[in-house]
Amino acid sequence: MNTRVIRVDEQHMDMALVGEAGDIIRAGGLVAFPTETVYGLGGDALNPQSSEKIYRAKGRPSDNPLIVHIADMEKLEVIVREIPESAWKLAKRFWPGPLTMIMHKSDAVPYETTGGLDTVAVRMPVHAVARALIRAAGGYVAAPSANRSGRPSPTAVEYVIEDMDGRIEMVIDSGDVEIGLESTIIDLTTDRATILRPGYITDRMLAQVLGEVEEDCTMMRADSGQAPKAPGMKYRHYAPKGELTIIDGVEESVVAYINTQIRRHMKGNKKTGVIGTDTSVSKYQADVCKSLGDRNDETAIARELYRVLREMDDENVEIIYAESFEAVGLGQAIMNRLLKAAGHRIIHV
Ligand code: AMP
Ligand code: MG
Repeated sequence: MNTRVIRVDEQHMDMALVGEAGDIIRAGGLVAFPTETVYGLGGDALNPQSSEKIYRAKGRPSDNPLIVHIADMEKLEVIVREIPESAWKLAKRFWPGPLTMIMHKSDAVPYETTGGLDTVAVRMPVHAVARALIRAAGGYVAAPSANRSGRPSPTAVEYVIEDMDGRIEMVIDSGDVEIGLESTIIDLTTDRATILRPGYITDRMLAQVLGEVEEDCTMMRADSGQAPKAPGMKYRHYAPKGELTIIDGVEESVVAYINTQIRRHMKGNKKTGVIGTDTSVSKYQADVCKSLGDRNDETAIARELYRVLREMDDENVEIIYAESFEAVGLGQAIMNRLLKAAGHRIIHV
């Protein structure tokens, strides 16, 4: 398949081009498109064959449900059995934006889209190109991240092309994404609303609207012995090819520990890498040293994380060490993704 790449600017949208992209989705094809979180791989959410194509293009297990993207609130009524009070409140505060809500699905949504579940995950993105595309495509776009399964989510169009070229009809290039980590997921089908995946919308922000929220106990720990409620969270997602270990502690000890390990691996002829921050990165002695940015600027770190993980792959780094971050606020989402990428390997020094 020949994948067509088109450029659409958020500020000056070419609506004819967006219309062509929408037609591809209406006809059962796939289009990768930008959102504020990461690039998504979009198909018609109400067409079972489209969802099957998405799984195939990603190489993703088909029990891993897709998020349905809408652009208008009235579309929500069609795809869920009922809209709970909590969903109205959250939508008012956070939609359009990087929040996904899980509700009971209506018969309009095929099981192919929900991975066989009776619930459906819904998000209304804020990115203007995403919104225009969703409308042009008929209103319901199922879209996981536009990466091959097991690779970090794409935060720039070159990574979408790297993973999806030849596998889908079209890619819409609107430049780099803004947030760089996937949406927060909250389950509204349980007695108390439960966060299944942390993201840019933090637990505190959600609690301000709902009073209190629970957290899925598998979110930050590997040893809970329970299956995560978001089926996708059980897979070793976001994984670089190299073996990643997180080192937690004060900077001086972290640098000393990592450099000792690096020297050992270098003797064994392994290619080594370190994911550090601006103040520490020059102190590491690995083959490849990358900074995620200023440790105090969490939004910048979130935006850089997947790019740096991919760069480690591109440079064929075999052993990777990463610094740790405080798991509060946006830091919780950063650590959730980093821990998953590391298969929960973390050493406290
Ligand atoms: P991605 O599309 O790659 O951002 O991943 C979507 C995430 O949402 C996966 O972890 C899914 O398991 C989760 N998800 C989607 N639909 C549901 C649902 N109905 N119930 C629980 N988790 C869901
Ligand atoms: Mg994904």
